[in-house]
Amino acid sequence: MKDAKLTLKATPDHQSIVRLNSQVAIGGQDLIVIGGPCAVENQAQLETIAAHLQGNIQALRGGVYKPRTSPYSFQGVGNEGLKTLTAVRDRTGLPVVTEVMAISQIDGMVAAGVDMLQVGSRNMQNFDLLKALGEIQTPVLLKRGLSATLEEFIMAAEYIMAHGNPNVVLCERGIRSFDSYTRNVLDLGVVVALKQLTHLPVIVDPSHAAGRRGLIAGLSRAAIACGADGLIIECHPEPDKAISDAQQTLSLPEMQALVESLRPIALGVGRSMPEGSRLPLPRELATR
Ligand code: PEP
Ligand code: MN
Repeated sequence: MKDAKLTLKATPDHQSIVRLNSQVAIGGQDLIVIGGPCAVENQAQLETIAAHLQGNIQALRGGVYKPRTSPYSFQGVGNEGLKTLTAVRDRTGLPVVTEVMAISQIDGMVAAGVDMLQVGSRNMQNFDLLKALGEIQTPVLLKRGLSATLEEFIMAAEYIMAHGNPNVVLCERGIRSFDSYTRNVLDLGVVVALKQLTHLPVIVDPSHAAGRRGLIAGLSRAAIACGADGLIIECHPEPDKAISDAQQTLSLPEMQALVESLRPIALGVGRSMPEGSRLPLPRELATR
């Protein structure tokens, strides 16, 4: 890390805040929860999530391009999904996060007005993609590579920042190990270390770490207790019917109960969870 120039703290209380819009900021006093399906399926799916979780999530996630292990699995709805995401954002006020897999997708995502671009684990060291994301100002959610060291993770963030985009949020999502009961091993040690070393916001994805629904609430509480700035969690109106990652996807009542259980933990570590929605939903959505 001797080379890192832009990601490391200058003073112990140096902390950057990454804004998704005028109301949602990551890295400040308020924790944030990003919720939504692994993959965007249709507009009703996202609007139902927004309506049920109003006040409990601060941003919506959903992949339109999916990095699937098998080329025969569902690859995402593609560009059509960008319109769906931003239509939902415009109706609900919730900023939207989606994964960018290739340089060629960046312009379309920026033009559509996506609020945050996710770099998936499999692309953490796609240096040309990182450089291209440095050329824009849209916030980037950089996920830790499947087997990336702390230093490799920090240097990947350094690529984006060195090319001109300071709006980087780090995401620990579990690393490969020998056990297969969980999908990955959630490395909370790295979360504490990243918070000590860097000024960047750090969030945790317990869904891709656990790979199992039943483990997500416990891992989420641990992440907040150890100082994470927020969470990104997969949820779906009908989790068993989710096109991808169904086994790790929470139902909307489970998601709501989980967020409620985080409030006292947030207070215990000197943080707060935003209360209530700041934007009224259109009436037909609010009553869903
Ligand atoms: C995802 O967020 O759906 C995803 C594919 O995550 P990761 O890159 O962490 O595997
Ligand atoms: Mn997923």
